Amino acid sequence: PSATANMKDKSDRATSEQVLDPRTRIILFKMIGRGLLFEVNGCVSTGKEANVYHALTPERQHRALKIYKTSILVFKDRDRYVTGEYRFRRGYSRHNPRKMVRVWAEKEMRNLKRLQTAGIRCPEPIEVRENVLVMGFIGDKDGWASPRLKDADIPATAFPALYSELVCTIRKLFHECKLVHADLSEYNILYHMEPSPTSHESTPSSVPTEQSGTVTTSLVKNETHGHLYIIDVSQSVEHDHPHAFDFLRSDLRNVEDFFSKRGVRCLGLRRAFEFVTTQSFDEAEENPMEVLKKRLEEIPEETISTMDDVAPDGEGEGASSTATHEDSVFLRSYIPRTLNEVYDPERDVRALARGEGEKLIYKDTIGIVVKEKDVQQTHEGQKPLDHFDGGESGDEGSE
Ligand code: ADP
Ligand code: MG
Repeated sequence: PSATANMKDKSDRATSEQVLDPRTRIILFKMIGRGLLFEVNGCVSTGKEANVYHALTPERQHRALKIYKTSILVFKDRDRYVTGEYRFRRGYSRHNPRKMVRVWAEKEMRNLKRLQTAGIRCPEPIEVRENVLVMGFIGDKDGWASPRLKDADIPATAFPALYSELVCTIRKLFHECKLVHADLSEYNILYHMEPSPTSHESTPSSVPTEQSGTVTTSLVKNETHGHLYIIDVSQSVEHDHPHAFDFLRSDLRNVEDFFSKRGVRCLGLRRAFEFVTTQSFDEAEENPMEVLKKRLEEIPEETISTMDDVAPDGEGEGASSTATHEDSVFLRSYIPRTLNEVYDPERDVRALARGEGEKLIYKDTIGIVVKEKDVQQTHEGQKPLDHFDGGESGDEGSE
């Protein structure tokens, strides 16, 4: 069969021709030849850096193909993710677009594998060949993709459980996968209804909820509502990347904003950050979902968002009611990734002497110190790699 014959468009999906340069077509043709795929259909999504296509296997199973664009320009602004990543120490050529996108595709594949190993809901990683990533399709039996969290029609009662699920997922991503997503938002999360109760057992046995009793265990466990699937992990960074905490903070900010606008009792950015990064909790109770439930109950009433704070369309300015003073300080703080990076007792003593002790926000998570602006200034004058010692080992040669 010819490749063209098997690459048809579905009528109301965008045309696929634009990114399929000859070399990419050959890769797809070979995949069809090997029986990995049977046909490639139209676009599910067209993006700046990649397009996603729907495909079928010979067994009529659905697949998603993420095909990275090989134009050099679109990957330029990805430099900040690459800088400081030990996985990019070698072989990342900024001048060869095919090599560059290949690295991104392979990285997404490896990151998906880590998520899958940790039992995080995500597309199943299947194969990567140059700029083409083959993965499981998150969608219905007819081949329609599940909506992004942003567009999904979700019953209001389901939001608190989804929030808790997501915060625990971010924690798991951090500690078990050793990754920070770095582009997490309602755009890179799919809301998917599983056909039947799943074997994924990261599912909580109970969920924190304000209206106790309205969200029950059965709601979380099965078909009554869907679950969140994490996608788009090509730019995810190692948890010891020099900017990992900045990325994590902005991931959490997106999550806090999204759910607080929907009336969910959220942790607030600062507490969410602590919850995610804390190595082990003080309490004997080690189940993160239980700890989260407790943390949510501990939040002082006056800092909790109410539906009154929520703009009618759920979007408007100032709707982020979790942005308390504490959070706004936290937002302006530079978060160093390692103690060595910034710990400067003399400067801190000077700050104390000036009566500015309150500016020093120390937070013991996994060996980090959080401070305000003066640190930010120091930091901005440096390039990340100049002061990054490669984490615990600091040993460039070893792997
Ligand atoms: P981009 O880099 O373009 O943002 P994404 O990985 O976020 O790429 O994918 C773009 C869109 O394609 C997603 O928003 C989602 O709608 C769809 N998509 C991606 N992966 C899958 C998948 N495995 N199953 C179903 N739809 C997917
Ligand atoms: Mg995306």
